[in-house]
Formats: sequence, C-alpha cells, structure tokens
Amino acid sequence: MPINVVKYGTPVLRQKGARIETITPTIKKLAADMLETMYAYKGIGLAAQQVAFAVQLTVIDVRGVTDRPSSLELEGQPADVSAFMPMVLINPEVKPVAQAVAGPEGCLSFPEIYADITRPDVVDVIALSLEGKPLQFRCGGLLARVVQHETDHLHGILFIDRMD
Ligand code: ZN
Repeated sequence: MPINVVKYGTPVLRQKGARIETITPTIKKLAADMLETMYAYKGIGLAAQQVAFAVQLTVIDVRGVTDRPSSLELEGQPADVSAFMPMVLINPEVKPVAQAVAGPEGCLSFPEIYADITRPDVVDVIALSLEGKPLQFRCGGLLARVVQHETDHLHGILFIDRMD
C-alpha cells in the first residue's frame, strides 16, 4: 500500500537510519510499500525516512526519466540500467570515482523546491539486496545522482544541505 510521504520539518528526515542486520518480513513489506509509494508520487527514488522509518533502506527506479542518461557497470562491464530497475538498496555505501558536476534535483519531501546540486558524476556502490545478497556496482549520470541523494537521506542529510 502507498504510504504518506513526510515533508520537510518532520524530525524523522533528520534521523540517521539504523543499519539493517536482518531482512525480516517487516522490512520486505516496507520495501514493497515504498515502491508503491514512489510510483504513486511519480518519484524516481524514495528513502525509508521519507515514510517515517529511520532504517537504511531505499528504493530507486530511473526508467521514467528518458532525457537524462544513467549508466551502470558490473565488474567493469557496461550493463543495462533498465534490467536492474527497480533497485532496492539496503545499507548502501557510496564512493566517488569521478569529478563532481552540477545537476537539477528535486525531492518528494520538498514538493516545491528544485535546485542544482553538485555531486560526483560516477560512484561505486556497495549494498545488500532485499534478498540479503551483496551488491556491488558502478553507476553514473542520473542514477549516480539518485543513489547519492537517497543515501544522504538514510543518514539524515537533505539536498538543501548541499545547495551552494
Ligand atoms: Zn529526497
């Protein structure tokens, strides 16, 4: 079921999410509800804090955006971004591997605000899947931006903190 997305000013948006050590049925249900919520709000990423759960879980699907490219590499080989959507990331960690670039961002918790945010254009990501499998990939473009935006949320960091 779609869940209400909390808006700026709600304290949970500033809470660092607890790492998920065990993928319980509750976590699986939360991930499913977050996917439905993201699609209902026409978002391309949603963090657990945005539905009032301070845990390190995010869902992403960039397929709806066709005018801003994304790239994905697995073990050094280019991969089809669409084939990996939607993406559920648990305890993601992000490491920059390219120069920072400015690009437009919005956030479902800030319905009226769009701003250029400077972030690394390519990042390496490690995380767990919803099945508890280790994930490791390199991503660029829009997908890299979304992964970084959502990983920030999981640590209580908001895109307004990164505005110039
Ligand atoms: Zn956001």
